[in-house]
Amino acid sequence: MKKKIALLGSTGSIGTQALEVIAAHPDRFEAEVLTAQSNADLLIEQAARFRPNVVVIGEENLYDKVNAALDPLDIKVYCGPNALNSVVQSESINIVLTALVGYSGLLPTIHAIKAGKTIALANKETLVVAGDIITELAIKHKVDLLPVDSEHSAIFQCLTGEYYNPIEKIILTASGGPFRGKNAGFLKTVSKAQALKHPNWEMGAKITIDSASLMNKGLEVIEAKWLFDLEPAQIDVVIHPQSIIHSLVQFEDGSIKAQMGLPDMKLPIQYALGFPQRLKNNFPRFDFLQYPSLTFEKPDLDTFRNLGMAFSSLQKGGNMPCILNAANEIAVDAFLKDRVSFPGMSDLIEYCLEKIPFVEKPDLETYMETDHETRKKALEKIV
Ligand code: NDP
Ligand code: MG
Repeated sequence: MKKKIALLGSTGSIGTQALEVIAAHPDRFEAEVLTAQSNADLLIEQAARFRPNVVVIGEENLYDKVNAALDPLDIKVYCGPNALNSVVQSESINIVLTALVGYSGLLPTIHAIKAGKTIALANKETLVVAGDIITELAIKHKVDLLPVDSEHSAIFQCLTGEYYNPIEKIILTASGGPFRGKNAGFLKTVSKAQALKHPNWEMGAKITIDSASLMNKGLEVIEAKWLFDLEPAQIDVVIHPQSIIHSLVQFEDGSIKAQMGLPDMKLPIQYALGFPQRLKNNFPRFDFLQYPSLTFEKPDLDTFRNLGMAFSSLQKGGNMPCILNAANEIAVDAFLKDRVSFPGMSDLIEYCLEKIPFVEKPDLETYMETDHETRKKALEKIV
């Protein structure tokens, strides 16, 4: 039977690569729902090709345009922020791939879990904001959370067949981004264009900046805690500039398993959609002789303060990771608009972590308030 997929954020980097995976396996996968925020032209083009049942365009003023194009194809069109929360519940969907960016992934993911849908999770911010609520709900509704993030997919792949073997620790690899080896003085001078050039991966703007600041790795540490039920002390980060080892698991006998391959997000996307099966493909294969040296370094937490702040937010728990995430979203947006400097992003996050009241056991409403208050505080500080 074909798996019917709701692809939230189909016009983004993960979204377009997921559509390539779906197109390569028409006997297994079908796009049932496609969604975009503002890129109406690409959404219309994708819908005309993949013929989903439903599309959602986030920006309401684009509804008429999308509807006029897709109505003749008998494709239902919805718009607005609440539309995602309802379409993910549709009876016909098997898997919801969350490839939207930032906090916007949280509520649609909650609605999809409550409707019993398998989640292929690319949107790591969902787990950073409210990992406790999401994992509890997934257990309650017997829903699988299948990681799409390459590091977490690597760990998930290493854990296959190890159900009864406790994890001693995991090691998340990081490329180090374009500013690896640079000092704090250098970071003061970096431009948007420099930060948007990732050495190994082509991704959306937000995650590319997060990778340059090592915030991406910080968010991934928090994501890993929730996906694999770990204590912060069980999570290590190592810089591995070649991005060939995607991450590692160390078991209690000291044995380490790694998952390796060329950096290509289509593989973890395909693994999540095809799970538990590995599907044949013709992606380029890794050749050891092309990479005679795979190297490893300690991350520089003094220069890249965001990773340290992510670890301490996780350690403190409560709404701290939610504050970290909201402050970071505002900081990245401001950096992309030339309103704060590269290190200014870390200053802003530090400021919010100090100023926003700590709540030890937040419920969903408290997380939503924390997100709102943090954004407000951060924006006031920038102006
Ligand atoms: P992109 O910015 O490329 O794409 C984001 C997608 O979400 C687009 O379809 C966009 O629509 C849509 N979108 C943007 N804002 C909203 C909103 N407020 N509400 C609803 N939809 C919205 O991001 P990426 O594909 O790079 O990343 C997506 C997620 O996957 C992120 O959480 C990221 O951390 C994670 N991830 C990405 C990886 C990568 O290689 N790119 C690797 C690992 C994880 P529109 O095009 O109309 O703006
Ligand atoms: Mg990753």
